[in-house]
Amino acid sequence: MNAPDADFIIIGSGPAGVSAAFPLIAAGRRVLMLDAGDDAGSQEENRSVRVLGSDLESLRADDGSSPKLQTPVSRGILERFTRDAGISGDGFKPIGSLARGGLSNIWGAQVSYLDAGDIADWPIDLASLQGSYERVSQRIGISTNADFTTGANSEATLPLGATAADVLRRHKAAKPADGSFRLFAAANAILSEARPGRAACDLRGDCLYGCPSGAIYNSRQDLLALRKSPHFRLLDMQAVSLARDSGWTVKTADGSSFSAPRIILAAGVLGTAALLADLLPIGGKGLRLLNSPTLAIPLLSPARLLRSPTPTHSLAQLGLSLRYGDGASDYVTGAIYEIGSLPAQSFVNRMPLGRKAGRAAFELIAGSLLVATIYYPGDQSRSSIHRDAMAKKGLTIRGGFAEGFEIRAEALKKALRREWKRLGLIPLPGASLAEPGIDAHFAGTLPMGESGPFGTSPVGELNLHPGLYVVDGSILPDLSSKYITMTIMANADRIAHRLAAL
Ligand SMILES: Cc1cc2nc3c(=O)[nH]c(=O)nc-3n(C[C@H](O)[C@H](O)[C@H](O)COP(=O)(O)OP(=O)(O)OC[C@H]3O[C@@H](n4cnc5c(N)ncnc54)[C@H](O)[C@@H]3O)c2cc1C
Ligand code: SF4
Repeated sequence: MNAPDADFIIIGSGPAGVSAAFPLIAAGRRVLMLDAGDDAGSQEENRSVRVLGSDLESLRADDGSSPKLQTPVSRGILERFTRDAGISGDGFKPIGSLARGGLSNIWGAQVSYLDAGDIADWPIDLASLQGSYERVSQRIGISTNADFTTGANSEATLPLGATAADVLRRHKAAKPADGSFRLFAAANAILSEARPGRAACDLRGDCLYGCPSGAIYNSRQDLLALRKSPHFRLLDMQAVSLARDSGWTVKTADGSSFSAPRIILAAGVLGTAALLADLLPIGGKGLRLLNSPTLAIPLLSPARLLRSPTPTHSLAQLGLSLRYGDGASDYVTGAIYEIGSLPAQSFVNRMPLGRKAGRAAFELIAGSLLVATIYYPGDQSRSSIHRDAMAKKGLTIRGGFAEGFEIRAEALKKALRREWKRLGLIPLPGASLAEPGIDAHFAGTLPMGESGPFGTSPVGELNLHPGLYVVDGSILPDLSSKYITMTIMANADRIAHRLAAL
């Protein structure tokens, strides 16, 4: 290896990559970050371009996926990944990004923290994550929703929408039908107070189309701070292969190569698998992939019929959880959204009415509509990554559900129906189980603490390849139903602190 280009090369500028970069540059380590995206973003575009798309792509037919995935910014990111990542799906929608900032350009920003029970099988304890959780929360800015009409107004709060506030009040007034049911105000990575370069949330509810003021956390924002350091360099280049000599060399799509003694992979679970495909013995059984089976349930609040929505953001208003079994991870986690500001056509198309009648009905009831999204833990999925037999390079992801999942899902829907009734909500027709992959909650391909060719050490170093570290969701040994990005970031921060000390 010639003189190394950096002490560490980080591949990926999403939430995981930037979280690994901060501790390293703070310790004076030279970091070169490679990202397949570039600086072109939607931040400066006017509202009509953000909503309709520069090629009016919003007017294309609804493809049945989540409204969040159909906005121009989402379509742009997902379509590039589909085109250029070399990953196809078989009963699985491979959601990923080749964009600066990764999927944080389009994420829902809801935040959860794992507890000791959630990580009981990990090779690390909660105490080793705690400091990282705190550092990351401080850096990205978290707000909890609160019902301002009841006087709650502590720091870092944003107002709950009136329909969500009504549901939460009903929950507090009557005991749940199932003792394990929890309903609480959601915590989101949205600013309630301005910071340099980011405005506070303006409550106009445009969130689905990319937050123009930067109130929603996006890891692009961190790149501005990182680039102020003389130890940090960012190049817009797509890594295509990794090779070991005395250190590691990364080759990029334009034919350049860069070397460092240690490489940190933060390309997202699917992107990292693609980069490692030639370095791992992926046989006929494929590489196990955990994802969260996801259910969406439209709900009507008759008490709020014909009442207008109140100003709030359109990310998660409420969070919920409910147990469905005795195992430590046998619980679902979910979120409740107000529908008022979401695109009408996504709902109209799913209503059992004609388009015209559907739109009229939607306008009448929009303020009283909610949607709940429910996530299962990763052990309810059966997905795996395979080398594409037809293409020389490339992967296919096969998606599926654990045996008996349908029965458990029906039982859960029944248990939820009792809670909806107690909360004064009517489930509407159109509840749907998403195609595996749409959840974008991925983990478990290269588990920390596992022996064997796919395992990694507690700091994410591949058993088979010393000097190659992984910091994204790939190394989480299991996938709880909780929102996962905060833990991915905290774990990347934890690992980078350890690497900075080597
Ligand atoms: C619609 C949607 C809503 C979501 N909502 C939530 C939520 O509410 N809460 C939550 O916790 N999570 C949510 N998520 C998931 C969240 O976005 C991901 O967990 C998170 O972005 C993962 O971060 P990452 O850095 O590991 O990967 P990514 O964000 O995918 O970033 C990967 C980076 O690697 C780069 N890259 C990939 N391959 C290469 C290569 N070969 N060479 C160079 N660079 C490369 C990409 O350009 C990108 O910058 C959501 C996701 C989606 C799609
Ligand atoms: S309402 Fe949504 S888009 Fe508008 S500033 Fe708040 S978070 Fe951003």
